[in-house]
Amino acid sequence: MEYSARIAKIEESKTIAVSTAANKLTAAGEDVVSFGAGEPDFPTPDFIKKAAAEAMKKGYTGYTSASGLPELKQAVVNKFASDYSYKYSTEEVIVCNGGKQVLFNGLSAILAENDEVLIPKPYWVSYPELVKLAGGRPVLVETEAKNKYKLKAAELRKNITENTKAVIINSPSNPDGHFYTQLELEELIGVLIEKDIFVISDEIYDKLLYDDREFKSMIELFPQLKNRLLVVNGMSKSYSMTGWRVGFGFANQEWIKNMAKIQSHTTSNVNTIAQYASAKALNNDKLDQIIKKRKDIYQQRRDLTAELLADIKGLKAIKPAGAFYFFIDISGLKNRKINGEKIKGSLSFADLLLEEKKVAVVPGIAFGMDNFIRISFALGEERIKEGIKRIGDFVASLN
Ligand code: PLP
Repeated sequence: MEYSARIAKIEESKTIAVSTAANKLTAAGEDVVSFGAGEPDFPTPDFIKKAAAEAMKKGYTGYTSASGLPELKQAVVNKFASDYSYKYSTEEVIVCNGGKQVLFNGLSAILAENDEVLIPKPYWVSYPELVKLAGGRPVLVETEAKNKYKLKAAELRKNITENTKAVIINSPSNPDGHFYTQLELEELIGVLIEKDIFVISDEIYDKLLYDDREFKSMIELFPQLKNRLLVVNGMSKSYSMTGWRVGFGFANQEWIKNMAKIQSHTTSNVNTIAQYASAKALNNDKLDQIIKKRKDIYQQRRDLTAELLADIKGLKAIKPAGAFYFFIDISGLKNRKINGEKIKGSLSFADLLLEEKKVAVVPGIAFGMDNFIRISFALGEERIKEGIKRIGDFVASLN
C-alpha cells in the first residue's frame, strides 16, 4: 500500500520530539528542567475560564458560522482597532483553530503547484511544512548575524524568481525574538510591492515585546499592502490560551472568503465555547492589565537568562526583543566531547544535554540553523537558574 508522496515529504515537528523525550524522563521520576515549551507557563486568566463555563451553562454548544462567531469577529476587529488604529471589517477577519490553521488556510488559498514562498532563516518550525502541505515550495532565505537575522532587501531580491508568490515575516519572532523596526520593514515592502508578492505577517507575539518597544501591525504601518496582506494573530501566546485553539486572520474579503471555504469543508468552526470565552476576554478591560503584568515578568526572566548565559564560555546569544525564547549559538562547542560522545550539531547537543544533565532544549535544526539551540524562558526564575546552571556544568565538562 502506498501513502501520499506529498505527505511523505512533510517532516515531523522536531520541537515535539524533544518534549516527548523530556516527558518520558519526567514520568520516570527524573527532575528535568524543560526549556522546550513554546507556550506561556501562566494559566489562562480566571475570568476567561469563567466565561467558558457560562457559555456552556447557557447552552452555547452548537455550531457557529464556519468562519467564526459574529460576536467574536466583532470583538476581534474592535480590539485590533483599539490596539493598532486600523479598522478591519468583520468580513475581513476569520477565526481559525490557532494561528497555525490561519497560516494553513491562508497559504492554501493562494498557492498553486510550483509557487514559492520565501521564509527567512531562522524560521518557526512549521512554516516550511505548512507551505508544502498547501502545495507550494518553501524557499529558505539566509540572513546574517550582523543584522540580527532579519531579512534585508538584497537577500529578498536575490531569492525572488518568477514563481515567488509570498513571503512570511514573523516579528517578534520565534525562535530568536528579533523584531523589525519600521525602517527595516519599509526596505522590504518596496521590493514586495514592486514584485507583486503576497505578505504573510505572523504577529502572534505582538503583546510580548520588551524594553518599551512599541508594536505596530504591518497593516497599520503599510495600509497600501491591504490587498496582498494576511495578518496572523490569536489568543494562544498573548493570553495564555494555547490549548483553546483560537487564532485570527485579517486580510481582504476575497482572501478571507477563500480561507473560509477551506475551513468549512475541513474543521468547520473553532470550538464554540472557546469562541464565546475569547469574545468575552477581548471585550474586557481587565485583559490588558493582566497581560502587561505578565509581560513585565517575562522581561525580568529574559534579563536574568541573559545575565546567566553571559557567564557561560562558548555560548553566544543575542538578547531577544520579543517573544520568550533565546536562540543560542553553540558553534563554539562543535566537535567537543562528553563521555566519548561528540557534539556534531544541535541534535546531538540537545540529546547529550538531556541525557547528562536532564535539561530539555530545542535543537536549532528545527528552525533551519544547526549551530543553535532554542531555550524558552516561559518558566519560573528558580527553574531558569537551575537549568542554566546545569547547562553551564555541561559545557564545563566538555573535552
Ligand atoms: N506562529 C508562531 C511564530 C508560533 O510560534 C506559533 C506557535 O508556536 C504559532 C504561529 C501558532 O500558534 P497557535 O496555533 O497556537 O495560535
